[in-house]
Amino acid sequence: MTNISTIEDWFSSRSGLLIAAGPCSVESRSQMLNIAEALRGKVSIIRGGIWKPRTRPSAFEGIGEKGLEWLREAGETAGLPTMTEIATPRHLEAALEHKIDAVWIGARTVVNPFSVQELAEAMRGIQIPVFVKNPVSMDVKLWLGAIERFETVGITRVAAIHRGFPDNDINYRNAPHWEIPIELHRLRPDINIITDISHICGRRDILTETAQKALDLATDGLMIETHCNPEDAATDAEQQITPSALEEMMNVLIVKKDISEEEKIISELRSRIDIIDDELLRLFAKRMNISEEIGRYKKLHGITVLQMGRWEKILNDYLKKAEKLGLSNEFVKAVFEQIHKESIEKQLEDRR
Ligand code: PEP
Ligand code: MN
Repeated sequence: MTNISTIEDWFSSRSGLLIAAGPCSVESRSQMLNIAEALRGKVSIIRGGIWKPRTRPSAFEGIGEKGLEWLREAGETAGLPTMTEIATPRHLEAALEHKIDAVWIGARTVVNPFSVQELAEAMRGIQIPVFVKNPVSMDVKLWLGAIERFETVGITRVAAIHRGFPDNDINYRNAPHWEIPIELHRLRPDINIITDISHICGRRDILTETAQKALDLATDGLMIETHCNPEDAATDAEQQITPSALEEMMNVLIVKKDISEEEKIISELRSRIDIIDDELLRLFAKRMNISEEIGRYKKLHGITVLQMGRWEKILNDYLKKAEKLGLSNEFVKAVFEQIHKESIEKQLEDRR
């Protein structure tokens, strides 16, 4: 790993990596003091959620304001700055009262321009670093718009956090869609972006490879949820790692110096292909499941499996559509003939 930056240096010189670590949720004073001891000198900033945006009201919605005291104390213990999520002007006020050093705006807040504007207005005349997560919707302009709202009220240290997008990609909790942060970077090369691998992955086993991917795409830093007893964490237990696992991860990550623009582009294009291939596989599986269902239905109602006339008509329609999309006749024909063959096999399987 190369050098880990302090938050001041990171915003001013744009060099080094910003590493934000700490629990998903602040739970208790001892939890925060323990994590602070473990992270001292190893990361740039300690994170901890005080108010948690949960899907259902019955879930743990965060410890609330009293946790700010523990977060600040953890920062003092570790000699590190602290950050928390704010979603309302009252959260901001409380965070400032407790001398929290930086704030992030969560993905569910960034999606709503009214909420973002209200937060921005509350920041007029004050200076605090603001990290803007990508909105839950895959909309780079909405993300950029939120960043601009904070800049417009005079916040000078604004950065972005890429935390992925809810999608039906089974590999990730929030699919990375790397093209979105890359597009943000193209539109605003002056804005630092860090990668929240924890909320992208939603699981521990692919954190390192995802962090490496982010570094290969020249991320400016990482956010990694870290907890001394991840399994017992009040929120996001499946994705948090211990401080020692964090250290191990940091030791194996390779920061390639001077990644050329060409390498970045190739890496991003490859990951887009990987995502599409993955999607293709899942679509094939989905399609074959329907074929099986049709097979069962046909058997039940005594309908023949192969209906040649229908297939020929469909194939011709596909070929016409494919031509408009710039796909060659031979390619599309070959692909669909294989799909059709497999589909017939699936339908017959049930009759054997
Ligand atoms: C978090 O960082 O704990 C969090 C809730 O983030 P997000 O807004 O990305 O879901
Ligand atoms: Mn979390």
